[in-house]
Amino acid sequence: MTTKVAARRVSSHAHSHRPRHGARPVTDSPRVTVFYDERMLAHEPSADAAFLPGRMDTRIRQLLSGLGVPWKYPEHPGRLTAISQFLALAPLQGVTFATGKAATAEQLGRVHTSSYLEQVYKLRGQYAWLDVDTTAVSPGSVDAAEVAAGTAIAAVESVVAGASDSTFALVRPPGHHAEPVRARGFCLFNNVAVAAAHAKATLGCQRIMILDWDAHHGNGTQDIFWADPDVLFIDLHRGAPFYPGSGSLDEIGEGLGEGTTVNIPLPADAGDAAYLLAFERIIEPAADWFKPDLILVSAGFDPHAHDLALNVSYRGFASMTHRLKQLATRHSQGRLVFVLEGGYNLISLSHGVKAVLEVLAGAVPPPPGECGIAEVEAAAAFHCRAFVDS
Ligand SMILES: [Zn+2]
Repeated sequence: MTTKVAARRVSSHAHSHRPRHGARPVTDSPRVTVFYDERMLAHEPSADAAFLPGRMDTRIRQLLSGLGVPWKYPEHPGRLTAISQFLALAPLQGVTFATGKAATAEQLGRVHTSSYLEQVYKLRGQYAWLDVDTTAVSPGSVDAAEVAAGTAIAAVESVVAGASDSTFALVRPPGHHAEPVRARGFCLFNNVAVAAAHAKATLGCQRIMILDWDAHHGNGTQDIFWADPDVLFIDLHRGAPFYPGSGSLDEIGEGLGEGTTVNIPLPADAGDAAYLLAFERIIEPAADWFKPDLILVSAGFDPHAHDLALNVSYRGFASMTHRLKQLATRHSQGRLVFVLEGGYNLISLSHGVKAVLEVLAGAVPPPPGECGIAEVEAAAAFHCRAFVDS
């Protein structure tokens, strides 16, 4: 950052009248880069692929077929196209798009075992179900998963190099349920963990904070950094027995990493007020103690009310983003990277991503829960004499 600040100072004073060829225009508005790559659309698991025998999903599918309701794989390419099409309707100033790249075996191998990687690589070009969970692959899935993890890396590289102030990697398959040795919950490779490990191994980052606000607990990310004191993992999620069932208060890490795993399990329908209180009472004090030099967000949009698990609003996502920006400014030279996780209602998914990007691009969100307050006050003033005996 010293370099970045110095570079800006030089270009904004000494040479602002004579920009060098290729130099970025000097501006106070944040430079936000969205990383998106159509290769991730090739991950298209079929609900018709054979299930492993004895699975709960088999039972659920039988029940649904009895009701005449078709079961569809909920984590589908339309999630990403819904976001990109919605963002294209009204481009945001300061937000530019870039393509991603595929992660290498070496990069993936920082968080996954070689035997797991070999197992996944063998599935290239096939339809298959991977585990006792919900994760399946289609012929293009392994390539797509490599691009998802590599695109999260590209988003981190961009902020560390100073090419962007903040970034958002729009990726799928999602990552936070993927463990070192197995796929889980629609996730093949743990994208945010691969990006964090890359930042630590090659980009000079020493203390990385990962905030996971997806509705589901990020069991895989927790597992990967369980004993790592250099990664502060904080997870807001709907508590057990909600999937995947982990993430209780007493899961705090172990060994050198004891204390750098922080879980905040929430009841069904918890909303903006609870999330923002968690920022005030837990997340901000933890970040101020840890002093991260990079902040990553496992950003799922399934806490939105439309996804039926929790009750966060678009203003809630915007407010959390604003507070993360303040934390990043305070500790990590502004470096803030969002990596998409879940979110299955296409409207709340795409609108939620946009709410985040608007704040990253400079908008200051109004406090959540105040929509309509001014109108009610005006109406109260209008009606105030109506019910008073004169
Ligand atoms: Zn989720």
